[in-house]
Amino acid sequence: MGKNIKYIFITGGVTSSLGKGIVAASLGVLLKDQGFKVTIQKFDPYLNVDPGTMNPYEHGEVFVTDDGSETDLDLGHYERFIDQSLSKANNITSGMVFSEVLKKERRGDYLGSTVQIIPHVTNEIKKRITKPLENADFDFVITEVGGTVGDIESLPFLESIRQFQSQNKANSIHIHLTLVPYLKTSGEFKTKPTQHSVKELRTIGITSDIIICRSEIPFQTDIKEKIALFCDVNVESVIACPDAQSIYEVPLLMKDENLHKEVLEKLNLPVKTPQLTEWKAYVAAIQNTNQEQITISIVGKYTELSDAYLSVVEALKHAAAANNSHCNIQWINSEELLESNVNEFLKTAQGILIPGGFGDRGIDGKLLASKYARENNIPFLGLCLGMHVALIDFARHVLNLKEAHSTEFNYSTEHPVIDYLPQQKELTEKGGTMRLGSYPCSVKTNSKLFELYGENNINERHRHRYEFNNTYKTLFEDAGMVFSGTSPDGELVEVIEFPKHPFFMACQFHPELKSRPYKSHPLFKGLIKQALEQKKSNIDYRLKEKSLK
Ligand code: GLN
Repeated sequence: MGKNIKYIFITGGVTSSLGKGIVAASLGVLLKDQGFKVTIQKFDPYLNVDPGTMNPYEHGEVFVTDDGSETDLDLGHYERFIDQSLSKANNITSGMVFSEVLKKERRGDYLGSTVQIIPHVTNEIKKRITKPLENADFDFVITEVGGTVGDIESLPFLESIRQFQSQNKANSIHIHLTLVPYLKTSGEFKTKPTQHSVKELRTIGITSDIIICRSEIPFQTDIKEKIALFCDVNVESVIACPDAQSIYEVPLLMKDENLHKEVLEKLNLPVKTPQLTEWKAYVAAIQNTNQEQITISIVGKYTELSDAYLSVVEALKHAAAANNSHCNIQWINSEELLESNVNEFLKTAQGILIPGGFGDRGIDGKLLASKYARENNIPFLGLCLGMHVALIDFARHVLNLKEAHSTEFNYSTEHPVIDYLPQQKELTEKGGTMRLGSYPCSVKTNSKLFELYGENNINERHRHRYEFNNTYKTLFEDAGMVFSGTSPDGELVEVIEFPKHPFFMACQFHPELKSRPYKSHPLFKGLIKQALEQKKSNIDYRLKEKSLK
């Protein structure tokens, strides 16, 4: 297809959090299923250069790509849905664009000109629409613009899209996602907010070709007809997207609404019947209510209402489905865990997971949870900070190094079992300076890690400043800890496991970032498998020979 690349822009109106990312990802699934090569990018209007410096409670998790960029969590949805690794080119922020323009201005690239939003900023944005094409060949570029139409920050992006579309009329379309609220008191769906939002887009020169309407419950054709009439689109181009039980149902819902057909016809491309074989199988599995239930306790400092651990939750769901089960999550705020109540909180835990994190808030609770899992044979998985915590607990309570800590939390600890990565010592800037992205890891044969991956060389994504301090390695090994994954030169510890326990594993990387719905991640799959086995077994694992105390 080469030169005839098609561009699809997706904006949102009425409110934020309508699920534009899921819709963009679902459209990607439908187009891939038609045999097209697809990429999806996100334009974020905020001024941070990347979300790496933002509070995960407000902004959700930071999704790290293979090439080490810290991106918006929607990229996680894109990767999981279209089953493709994305890159730096797939998440653009106003911060990135403005800093590039200002750098050029200082360098003298625009000498003589007044530097303005139009054309200098808009040109930079337009360049980024085609950026994913620099290193790969795609038939479709789907671009989602974050925020809501009407936001001041979005204007340069929308203006750039307007210009781009007018220069590529035959090859681009615009999809607008809105909310159609249902008023319980009058028993009616309301189309006015959609009409206003489409009008708002028109005032900046953008016409929507397709309108996708989110609603709490399904609505009838008369509502579609009304929206079509007021918003100047065919009734078939009004796509209903009612709330679904699971985000993974959305590609199938969008197929039933013929979103692929609308898109392809508008771009003069042939339409085939979507197969979506793997999706149908995955959705059927998660909808099966007879599945075994398993509960994993996540001990972190953010609770269920935030998206701070989004990929972890998704990875657990994928792993449960791969084990013909359904995973429920018990959220435990580590700040509330105390010596006096840890047993109360965790006495029914079927599996414990400690996710990544920064800063010392809630660390003591995480240490208690790790110790509890280790001493009571509860399947355990620690991710990044979760590995640090597991090692600190082991140092303190098994190796008797009472003061052991990470220098992240106690700079002058007597036993820095976790310490700064050597290359981090000189750095002064916070943004984008961690050990980021995909690195190879060598897997020890005859380890649980090898059993799970079935490979000696793996690659996983990282986002950290601290690591295990090798000075303590022999002490740990003598007490039964196995360092089953390391960097190929053996210098950095990547994975630990404790064979005296039925499943006690932790890793320096973030395996959750590479889990996909029907390609569940080996570490998560292993955790759930062991948790299910212990749940079904007659053996009381808690009373089994205790692993070392
Ligand atoms: N705060 C720890 C570090 O920087 C762990 C980071 C993480 O969990 N992502 O090394």
